[in-house]
Amino acid sequence: MTKGKTAIITGASSGIGQATAKELAAKGYHVLLAARREDRLVELKKEIEAAGGTADYKVTDVTSADQMKALAEAGLEKNGTIDVLVNNAGLMPLSFMNKLKVDEWDKMIDVNIKGVLYGIAAVLPIMEKQKSGHILNISSVAGHTIFKGSAVYSGTKFAVRAISDGLRQEIDPSDEIRVTIVSPGAVETELTNTITDEDIMTAFKEGKPMEMLKAQDIANAISYAVEQPAHVDVNEILIRPRQQP
Ligand code: NDP
Repeated sequence: MTKGKTAIITGASSGIGQATAKELAAKGYHVLLAARREDRLVELKKEIEAAGGTADYKVTDVTSADQMKALAEAGLEKNGTIDVLVNNAGLMPLSFMNKLKVDEWDKMIDVNIKGVLYGIAAVLPIMEKQKSGHILNISSVAGHTIFKGSAVYSGTKFAVRAISDGLRQEIDPSDEIRVTIVSPGAVETELTNTITDEDIMTAFKEGKPMEMLKAQDIANAISYAVEQPAHVDVNEILIRPRQQP
């Protein structure tokens, strides 16, 4: 049981972020929940507290560097340390390039790449001062392989892996700061709700059915990485449903 440590989770209002918040709270972390939908954060805080954990929330848009900084500062002020950041917020409006969904390309770059960078910018100075901390960035199997319709989404998730490993290599070896990439395959969440390209939705529906991962499976992987002793840095976890090619 980890006591007295604080974990910030972005995208905590749904799916993987929500499951991770509950899991880390159950492990004894004080969790600071971040997302834009306040009603969901309020509900999650209540649920975590009813289960015996502790949580706060702050409505945060990860595409704002200022809001991300304010989130980290609020956590630090209340709890004294920021021990874990899970940069999880993300969007996946897959589309074929020739549909020219430029607004969706922009949104993915803003949330999936800049959001991760702003999270790093918000906590890195704090963790360097503490000389400890753990940053986990959620990439994807799509950050390893590209398929038709995933060009921009994959681009953002490849970027997350590049940024994460670059950061990991630059950490001062005398600091106990760890960086982990988590790359899930298909997980049953609300992520596909952002897809507006009807051809992609048709291709999805025509695909072979399979048993997808649950958000809890990814929460378990994140929990495994953060619970390792300080000398162990789990660099990356690549996790697919058994039936996913
Ligand atoms: P969900 O759609 O269930 O959750 C996405 C979360 O991101 C929501 O909590 C949403 O909160 C948050 N979010 C989106 N935009 C912003 C923003 N601008 N500021 C703050 N929060 C934001 O999807 P998942 O749980 O599946 O996705 C979580 C991560 O996992 C993503 O990075 C995704 O790319 C990655 N992933 C998911 C896979 C899957 O199959 N589901 C596979 C591989 C990776 P709100 O709208 O309230 O702001």
